[in-house]
Amino acid sequence: MRYQTDQFDDKKDYAMKLLIPGPVQPEQEVLQAMGDPVQPHYGPEWTQIYNETVDMLKTVYGTTGDVFIMVGSGSSGLDAAIGSMVPTGEKIIVGVNGFFGERLCAIAKAYGLDVIPVSGEWGQVLEPGDVSKIASQHTDASALAIVHLETSTTIVNPIKDIGKIANELEIPYIVDAVSSLGGLPMDMDEWGIDVCVSASQKCLGAPPGLATVAVGPGAWEAIDRVPEKSHGWYLDLRVWKHYQQAWADWHPFPITMATNNVLALRKSLESLQAEGIEARMARYRTLAVHLREGLRRIEMRPFTPDELLAPVLTAAYGPPGVPTGDIVAYMSTVHDTKIAGGLGEKLKDVIFRIGHMAPTTSIEDIDDLLLYLADFTPDWRSTFTEKAERD
Ligand SMILES: *Cc1c(COP(=O)(O)O)cnc(C)c1O
Repeated sequence: MRYQTDQFDDKKDYAMKLLIPGPVQPEQEVLQAMGDPVQPHYGPEWTQIYNETVDMLKTVYGTTGDVFIMVGSGSSGLDAAIGSMVPTGEKIIVGVNGFFGERLCAIAKAYGLDVIPVSGEWGQVLEPGDVSKIASQHTDASALAIVHLETSTTIVNPIKDIGKIANELEIPYIVDAVSSLGGLPMDMDEWGIDVCVSASQKCLGAPPGLATVAVGPGAWEAIDRVPEKSHGWYLDLRVWKHYQQAWADWHPFPITMATNNVLALRKSLESLQAEGIEARMARYRTLAVHLREGLRRIEMRPFTPDELLAPVLTAAYGPPGVPTGDIVAYMSTVHDTKIAGGLGEKLKDVIFRIGHMAPTTSIEDIDDLLLYLADFTPDWRSTFTEKAERD
């Protein structure tokens, strides 16, 4: 079974149930916005639509600062955040307890920054004490960057507590909230976050294609310190700020905006607003608890203990001796259901991951998923071929 609705009846050949940590399956009206007539990306009508979308994002971020919608994936936003805030040659402290922490390091290195990692166990929370210790050894660091929900391990890092360290040191604080914004609490200004990055295709519930970059009121001082002409033009946050102000009444960004993607994002934000952020988050948490109970019932142990539950993403171990990539292949081949494998050297084929970060994901979807997983046997390929031959 693919979808409860007849949403994709004419597209069965490729429509899959997406239970991965992005992209998610958007709601119907969000998808429909992608098929609306293309609008020009400038003029008063479009500027109003864009600004409304930005204002809704400000509420989700919890900021009175600026939000920029950039055409590009989440990584482009991370690239913009790091490249705009820290001059080449200076130090950045980066929390690393998974694949996406390593990715932040890679971005920083690509800008010629001196990366000081705070290394944590994959599958453990990054300890604020460890961040403090490293920070006290590198008082000349220019910024601190951390991943909120580490999508590779499902670990939620304590960004609020770590923010206090950055604030005490008076260095800019960058947070990768690509997989958490819209699904986990976020109070950017209150938590002292200077730049916070997300993307359209995860908890924000829209198709891939847009990065959202929120810049807190206090962040511009650090950004303005970076010499011009050092990190290119497209991803320089100053360029985005300039057009937002100089062309405010007709074209508040420097490039051709992906207008249909913005229309879709606006719809998904309206849906989030209508349901209520708290109610949406509570719904995801219910899915997580239900999934964990079911996984234990079928003896596929959750990767993290319940105290470390991520409301929008769950990882589990497969049966002993089975590479989890095989379970992922089984789910997609036999059940048209896409789940994710383990990411990175340490967890590839060790765990599998299930995303429940879309408003379209229901308790019934989780129940179906559990039934399919319960039916998994290491020799599924042979029984599947036999069945295909019989049919
Ligand atoms: C998905 C993800 C990214 C990368 O986002 P893209 O849109 O694929 O560029 C970065 N960080 C985290 C935590 C993610 O989950």
